[in-house]
Amino acid sequence: MTAAPRGKKYLGAVDLGGSKILSVIAQGDGRRLGEDRRSTSAEEGPEVVLERIAGSLENALAKAGLQRGDLAAVGICSPGPCDIDAGVISSAPNLPGWRDVPICRYLEERLAVPARLENDANAAALGEHVYGAGRGCRHLIYMTVSTGIGGGLIIDSRLYRGATGVAGELGHMVIDPDGPLCGCGNRGCLEALASGTAIAARGEELVAQGGSALLAKLAQEQGELTAETVCRAAQQGDAASREIAQRAGYYLGVGLASYVNIFNPEVIIVGGGLVKEGELLLGPARAEMEARAMSEALKAVQLKLAELGDYVGVMGMVALLREGCS
Ligand SMILES: [Zn+2]
Repeated sequence: MTAAPRGKKYLGAVDLGGSKILSVIAQGDGRRLGEDRRSTSAEEGPEVVLERIAGSLENALAKAGLQRGDLAAVGICSPGPCDIDAGVISSAPNLPGWRDVPICRYLEERLAVPARLENDANAAALGEHVYGAGRGCRHLIYMTVSTGIGGGLIIDSRLYRGATGVAGELGHMVIDPDGPLCGCGNRGCLEALASGTAIAARGEELVAQGGSALLAKLAQEQGELTAETVCRAAQQGDAASREIAQRAGYYLGVGLASYVNIFNPEVIIVGGGLVKEGELLLGPARAEMEARAMSEALKAVQLKLAELGDYVGVMGMVALLREGCS
């Protein structure tokens, strides 16, 4: 690789997750020049993790052949609620002990560059909008389906954050008012019916009832029963496991139909770990969306798979930062 020209024009982006930290150094056009991955080890507490984040960024810089003085700005995305104006992570479900952590102030003092913070699902929506499957679209919805269901909204080419920054919580639309309890305290949210956690819970119930010898055997071999176990049993011909996966896909489609009617998007981008299961979930989801959404809204919309993989959050931060850079 030829050395990148020096100067204060490079962007540092960090995706802070419950299990790992990913840092990249990029140009505004999205070209990545260096990266660093390390485990979060969140149990060591915020102070240690903050220093680890700074170290991760410095290592990514070194890999790009650059120094701290070459950075124009850094951006960090994290799960859970955050105060983006104050640069404070309010709380984070996967980071024990993180309460009101002033992460931007820490990074600004430690690295001597401006820092910005964003929720990870919002960052992901921006990343796909600018660099991924939503390039060239003005109206898009990004939905991630993994252990939970999250999302972000791009309306008129701008991230829509809502009044208090929590807009786009696609997983917490109520589908069944009397349905299973959701992590948010409500009942019957999409997340409680169609997330990886929900699929695994239905799988556990099935095994407890003696409803699938194959699923029980796979779970025992694996040492745990996850949504992927249910999908594997389904793909190996287990009808009861297939029914669970298809039911989750059906609920996803019910949710998608409502998003289509409310937002009239050009594209809905689906990312997250469960997308790897492909048509097992997305087939019923697409069919249900098409059966339920209004035809005028439906004719504009495409359902696409996310393109950026685990770079989606950091590329969203690069997109966010480049707005403030020449
Ligand atoms: Zn909920």
